Amino acid sequence: MAELIDGKVLSAQIRSEVRTEVENRIKSGKRAPFLTVVLIGEDPASASYVKGKAAASAEVGIGSDTLTFDASISEKEVLDVISRLNADQKVDGILVQLPLPAHIDERKVINAIDPAKDVDCFHPQSVGNLVIGIDGFQPATPAGIVEMLQRSQIPTAGKHCVIIGRSNIVGKPLANLMLKKGIDSTVTVCHSRTPNLPEIARQADILVAAIGRANFVTADMVKKGAVVIDVGINRVEDATRERGYRLVGDVDFEAVSKIASFITPVPGGVGPMTIAVLLQNTLKASNKQD
Ligand code: NDP
Repeated sequence: MAELIDGKVLSAQIRSEVRTEVENRIKSGKRAPFLTVVLIGEDPASASYVKGKAAASAEVGIGSDTLTFDASISEKEVLDVISRLNADQKVDGILVQLPLPAHIDERKVINAIDPAKDVDCFHPQSVGNLVIGIDGFQPATPAGIVEMLQRSQIPTAGKHCVIIGRSNIVGKPLANLMLKKGIDSTVTVCHSRTPNLPEIARQADILVAAIGRANFVTADMVKKGAVVIDVGINRVEDATRERGYRLVGDVDFEAVSKIASFITPVPGGVGPMTIAVLLQNTLKASNKQD
């Protein structure tokens, strides 16, 4: 039976480390780091993520505020908000909660963020730094995965890491992190046009599922003893739950946990790690601005 990699426990360790560093900053006469989140529209999932980020910031002593705008806000108005936040010396980190309404060009908005405040690590400069190995902000979900592996003492050097999914948020930045010197995995990235995906998945020492389809990774796609990281968050109907659904990952947890050596649960796996890395990035941003 696979050992569970507990994202709640590991993310609590990171949050506690960030809290100590924030306290040290304040003791040395510096101000607390500050994160501003921009939330546009009424998407309930986005609103709930933003609430989680604000609560996690408060818990470690990071100040935060959320600027909320109606979905009808124009692209120009959003760009003006970003430009004001870029100039505001009290704001260390800027996070624009995605997705944005269709009439706003996400790329334009992300590109407008000062790279020194880009705590989501989405700006092309941040992504470029990641690819060429310059230290900077960490992409939150991928870095959360690496933290999970390292804090669980799972070796990565020379291991074959197969990532299913090539998004700009998870698959691509994770591939770059796993390739980095010091992490040293051999990386394969699969996507919807990969014909022999189960065969490739079975070669993985570390298998990461970032697809967005419930129970996509079945037991026959996993090598015995592989480490399985489940990034997916999917709603499946569940009449026994008050809200009518429950959250599951991309991996058939029950069957795969009988084959894998380590596995992450959903919820309580990668999700909490993502927020912890965001806090690390905000702290880093404030240290840079000193
Ligand atoms: P995207 O939809 O942007 O990307 C999904 C990827 O999966 C694409 O590369 C797509 O391939 C690939 N894919 C889709 N269907 C198949 C298929 N049948 N076979 C092979 N590959 C397929 O999703 P994200 O990367 O943003 O998110 C993935 C999942 O992770 C979602 O459930 C999301 O909710 C979750 N997530 C969780 C986070 C956390 O903190 N835990 C953070 C971010 C995301 P192609 O490119 O060819 O279309």
